[in-house]
Amino acid sequence: MEPMFSPPLHRQRHQFVIDFVKRYKPKKVVDLGCSECSLLKKLKFHREIELLVGVDINGANVKKKMHGLAPISTDYLQPSYDQLRVELYQGSVTQKDARLRGFDLVTSIELIEHLTLADVECFSEVVFGYMTPGSVIISTPNSEFNPLFPRLAGFRHSDHKFEWTRAEFKSWALKVCLEYGYEVTFTGVGQAPPGQQEGVGFCSQIGVFHRRGGRECCNMLFCDHTENVFSYTLLYSINYPSLHDNNIKRRVLVSEVLYWAEKLKRSWMAKKTGERDDTFTLCQAEGEGEDCLRALERNMEMEEKQTAACGAAMRNTVEPQDGEDGGLFWTNDRGEQESSALHRCVCVPLTLLWSSSQKVSALSGSLSNLRHLLMDDPEVKLSPDGSAVLLNYQEQDHENEGEDPDDLEDSGYAEARQCSHTAEPEEDWEANV
Ligand code: SAM
Repeated sequence: MEPMFSPPLHRQRHQFVIDFVKRYKPKKVVDLGCSECSLLKKLKFHREIELLVGVDINGANVKKKMHGLAPISTDYLQPSYDQLRVELYQGSVTQKDARLRGFDLVTSIELIEHLTLADVECFSEVVFGYMTPGSVIISTPNSEFNPLFPRLAGFRHSDHKFEWTRAEFKSWALKVCLEYGYEVTFTGVGQAPPGQQEGVGFCSQIGVFHRRGGRECCNMLFCDHTENVFSYTLLYSINYPSLHDNNIKRRVLVSEVLYWAEKLKRSWMAKKTGERDDTFTLCQAEGEGEDCLRALERNMEMEEKQTAACGAAMRNTVEPQDGEDGGLFWTNDRGEQESSALHRCVCVPLTLLWSSSQKVSALSGSLSNLRHLLMDDPEVKLSPDGSAVLLNYQEQDHENEGEDPDDLEDSGYAEARQCSHTAEPEEDWEANV
């Protein structure tokens, strides 16, 4: 009866690498002999990794499933600050390529037994002598385990050029360490049945190599640029969306601002008309009800004061009161009649958006950055002084009247343009985030 492994042996090998990644948190990882990228697909979820590379001599195999390494919709919808770039190459591990130098971790899972012994020598020089990674994980079949596969005649796979005993693997590994300055520990996956483990060892033997002297030693080696060869062919590369990319950050910020502006507008309008406010219910459900209500109350008070201050002014060009935190709404209309709603805007002050949404404040870093970012965005209408987001008073304004929402003269923007707030001095966005 052939030994069965649970979980399957290939999964145990990959899990070994994943456990190592969790423990040592390498930033740059390359998988040599990546085949159909199944290990890479698991590693991409470990977001401490910033550069994930796969190499295989068989480009067709890599191409089969490489698109499974692309970002998924949530990576775009909810990008984080994590950064990840994935690169896949066709090339031989017996050849040098400068793009693979300086990695934190190199994995070679069930690869070396596919090389001739002469090529294993080249592999040793390329990986340990040229790439000089911080750590290397090498797995290869342990031939001492083979008698436990009763139907096995010869090697485990027709393409294997050799299968080493534990002593043979150890002898090669120690020689590599001596030559290139590494130290190694031996382990494996795929336990033998009870009582036989010591006699036969693991089904897959694993050597874990660490560079002596750590990263500093490694960096010194890169002063030598004499061997900047590029022998591999790039098959695929992708950058995952990250909030470190200012365009992505701006897109996320704008959608959060528009969401909150609309939410606050609806709450205010519902309160004004005495209607049931589903948005406010939503605020409460999110545990923000009290803050939301208080902000709105302040707005209402401010609006009343300002309406009184403006009296029957044709437009409400209101100033925040001294000592107030600027939390206000005002309707910007042609003023004559309540019924002329179609020309009104609701202005949602940036200060209110800032205090209402932690995400808005975290993403923008400062109020003036927020203003700066929104100013350049075609999706957002800001008041002329840049202190508030302008929303149409009623959504049906344009639907009903066939009005062009971009026609600033008719949408109430023209009036809002006359507001006389003084913009805060701008800060450098790049310097603040
Ligand atoms: N590492 C894979 C995994 O864990 O799922 C499986 C590796 S598969 C058994 C061996 C891989 O090594 C094959 O995809 C093969 O194309 C690749 N290979 C063989 N010789 C190679 C070489 N000289 N350079 C790079 N890849 C090679």
